[in-house]
Amino acid sequence: MKTYLLDLHPDAYPLEGYRRKQLLEWVFVQGVAHFADMSNLPQNIRAELEQTYALSAFSKVEKFPSTDGSTKYLYTLLDGRQMEAVLMPYQDRVTICVSTMVGCPAGCSFCATGRMGFGRNLTAGEVVEQILYAARDQGWQPSTIRNLVFMGMGEPLLNYQNTLNAARILLHADGLGMSQRRITLSTVGLPKQIIQLASEDVTVKLAISLHAPDEETRKKIIPTAHAHSIKDILESAREYQRRSKRRVTFEYSMLAGVNDHLWQAELLAEQLRGLIAHVNLIPMNAWAGSGFASSSEQRIQEFYDTLEKLGVPVSVRRSRGRDAGAACGQLALKRPADAAA
Ligand code: SAH
Ligand code: SF4
Repeated sequence: MKTYLLDLHPDAYPLEGYRRKQLLEWVFVQGVAHFADMSNLPQNIRAELEQTYALSAFSKVEKFPSTDGSTKYLYTLLDGRQMEAVLMPYQDRVTICVSTMVGCPAGCSFCATGRMGFGRNLTAGEVVEQILYAARDQGWQPSTIRNLVFMGMGEPLLNYQNTLNAARILLHADGLGMSQRRITLSTVGLPKQIIQLASEDVTVKLAISLHAPDEETRKKIIPTAHAHSIKDILESAREYQRRSKRRVTFEYSMLAGVNDHLWQAELLAEQLRGLIAHVNLIPMNAWAGSGFASSSEQRIQEFYDTLEKLGVPVSVRRSRGRDAGAACGQLALKRPADAAA
């Protein structure tokens, strides 16, 4: 079987010296899909690479454009399993949201991916290729996509090494040369892994899916809350902040009647004291059979105002791609027509 080239760290790429740099440039700067197109490499080298290495782990790709300009990519892997990425062009930047797993073992009750259960971890290359493929499909060089969020399917800190290796590959100066400041890792909140992450060579931005400031509510919607207390999660966030010197984002999906009481906004503000934090309110994205509804616009505004008044930096995330089944929490391999509730 061929070796999947994208799984390798750039320092471990085949070829020596300037030839290796040329190869990296073809893969990460030009974004070509075939060794045959690497025109400044001699024919015999191209043929050898072709024999030993594979440049893709995708057997099929479907895409679902949204009316808001974002595009959902549904990737089928060589073993037939599937996962998704969402490409989101904004006025001043392009962001991609990638998956780190097929499905997710965490099982959060409002998340369609969680409802699917766990398929398997993605390899580092399978994470990296989501970006290379989407750029190529748009007719762009990969560097057009400058912002990366690990917020697709899966819990990145439960696929720790592969996720981190994917970041290392994307950051490498001879390859894509992404910036650490433009990579955000979103986690359900696993204190041990967050503390470990704080000591890595790579310091990405951290987003923690808190979703409730009180244990009772959090345990109702997030199974891992039974194992990890809010106190421990916040302590690990402080540690991450001490080492990385970065602001930590707290995600808060607004679920009507569940976590949107104003006392919860007050308690949240209290919990976050002492942290340089930012709260991102996410209106719940509906999906068939979830049993949850989004808080009303009015309640979201009240929750927002309460946090703001208490001095907590807060914003509302308007999820992209709802009509393509591409919004936060909707990734479940559904065709757009089936995705919305
Ligand atoms: N596993 C990671 C990253 C993927 S989920 C995590 O949980 O953080 C990305 C974000 O979308 C998380 O904050 C998640 O809680 C949120 N989310 C999940 N389902 C949602 C839904 N239906 N509506 C709104 N946000 C949702
Ligand atoms: Fe997994 Fe995140 Fe969905 Fe929870 S919200 S099930 S951790 S992908």
